[in-house]
Amino acid sequence: MPAAKGSCLCGGITVSYDAEPLLMNACHCIQCRKVTGAAFSTNCIIPESSFKLGGSIEPKVYISPHGDSGKPIHLYFCPTCSTSMYAMPEAFPGIVVVKTGVLDREEGEEDPLDLFKPTVEGFTCRRASWLSGFEGLAQFEKNPKA
Ligand SMILES: [Zn+2]
Ligand SMILES: [Zn+2]
Repeated sequence: MPAAKGSCLCGGITVSYDAEPLLMNACHCIQCRKVTGAAFSTNCIIPESSFKLGGSIEPKVYISPHGDSGKPIHLYFCPTCSTSMYAMPEAFPGIVVVKTGVLDREEGEEDPLDLFKPTVEGFTCRRASWLSGFEGLAQFEKNPKA
């Protein structure tokens, strides 16, 4: 798996990682909906040890007490442009959940949304009625198992 890099909308925060993802999921849970403002979120879950933060702006964190695990989840976003960048759930220490919509590509590179395409679909119990399941993805009614 090639290294990935991403940035927020204003470019003030950059993220990168260089590791085989532990899991890539499309998630329909309420938290993913809210934090992205979209019907679902696409996430790449990686070991914290491979995650690097850069740029000129320090991300802000909102600690949501309503993680689906019952434990809080730390949600990191840009205080300037509000882009939701990544999350760190207390229930799973040592992992980072990167929102794949923030990933960038250079001219001629493969689209990171193809490189880090979800392999599982989580919280199908919350999937919008007008969305059908994504073909070829393992479906989980709640949290996917890696
Ligand atoms: Zn920004
Ligand atoms: Zn979710």
